[in-house]
Amino acid sequence: MSLTVQKYGGSSVDNAERVRNVAKRITDAYKAGGEVVAVLSAQGDTTDELIEKAFEINPRASKREMDMLLANGEQISISLCAMAIEALGYPVVSLTGWQIGMHTDSEYGSARIKRIDGSRIRAELDRKNIVLVAGFQGINKYDDVTTLGRGGSDTTAVAVATALKADTCQIYTDVNGVYTADPRIVKGARKLDEITYDEMLELATLGAQVLHNRSVEMAKRYHVPLEVLSSLESCPGTKVKEVVNMEAMQVSGVARDNNVARISLTNLPDVPGMAFKLFSLLSQQKINVDIILQSIGRGNNKDISFTVAQTAARQARDVLEEHKDNLGYEELIIREDVSKVSIVGSGMVNNPGVAASMFEALYRAGVNIQMISTSEIKVSVLIDRAQSDKAVQAVHEQFFGG
Ligand code: ADP
Ligand code: ASP
Ligand code: MG
Repeated sequence: MSLTVQKYGGSSVDNAERVRNVAKRITDAYKAGGEVVAVLSAQGDTTDELIEKAFEINPRASKREMDMLLANGEQISISLCAMAIEALGYPVVSLTGWQIGMHTDSEYGSARIKRIDGSRIRAELDRKNIVLVAGFQGINKYDDVTTLGRGGSDTTAVAVATALKADTCQIYTDVNGVYTADPRIVKGARKLDEITYDEMLELATLGAQVLHNRSVEMAKRYHVPLEVLSSLESCPGTKVKEVVNMEAMQVSGVARDNNVARISLTNLPDVPGMAFKLFSLLSQQKINVDIILQSIGRGNNKDISFTVAQTAARQARDVLEEHKDNLGYEELIIREDVSKVSIVGSGMVNNPGVAASMFEALYRAGVNIQMISTSEIKVSVLIDRAQSDKAVQAVHEQFFGG
């Protein structure tokens, strides 16, 4: 018998009508004769609202208690949807991360999945139940609740699909599939019929939140066929797979990330070991550094600028200020009004001039570039956030037309 894992995101279960719509879709798949497991996210903006509630009480709450709080959003969704399925007359059971044996490490707020004990889900499917699973949550070795990071329900779905050897994993969301750019920002963005895991992974990592990047990484590793579809319309979505039929496009998509901050340290001593000292301090705090720019030494000094996630900027400031004397810099400047705009495409490697073409589009749009980073399949630039809508539109038009 075929087994389908479906995942429905926050906007797909935002209110009673949407929950009933999801219940209908799940029961349609069940009626068609297959086994169905559906992973659900918290309704609408519930996770953001819970974070705000926590901030009102204690802006420096421990990550453990934050996870304890945030996991509730997904539990509300699965129980409400189970009630909607009961009302339609089908057998259903909702299960938390703990109940499905979703074991993670103890990095509260960004826990990594270690293993899933699929036996409870298997037993419920054998009893002919539809199974609803709370996305985004797991438990660690202390039996404490953990969460997988924002957008993590996609990763729950792929992990469940992997553990149960599902035939397919369908990610239902509020757009019809993966587009050449966020269709909510870019006029003329086109839906892709298919995209490779590698390109999707880059796009997701560079800010296209349509899929959690770790879900794509896992789908690639375990060969899980993924499809991104609309929960509201019935039309073909985008297949994410190893190889796509068409010739590798020069550029398959444009992404924008606003969760970025630029940090500059001026007049650091121009001596060996400086970068080592600075970046090991940040790595000890588990702060990821992205683009790095170091100036040529002037006299005995140099500047180093780098980007971190905006959500990590305060922690980075704290550690750099604490070590000011040790590092010996003059000024610490943090800019949070920046965005990263990127192009991704596996065909880029054989086409010199793609980066220049992106810079040309930005020049014509009057957008100044603060930093640049490139790899074989992407080019990223850091720009002023106020110009980022314009920049994404201009870069998209350059490669995909108006
Ligand atoms: P869900 O709540 O279903 O998980 P998300 O909000 O996490 O949905 O992701 C869907 C959103 O991703 C879309 O509404 C869209 O604005 C955004 N998005 C960003 N880049 C892309 C892209 N390249 N293709 C499609 N959607 C994108
Ligand atoms: N509810 C969580 C979030 O808002 C997880 C998810 O939606 O995937 O990030
Ligand atoms: Mg999401």
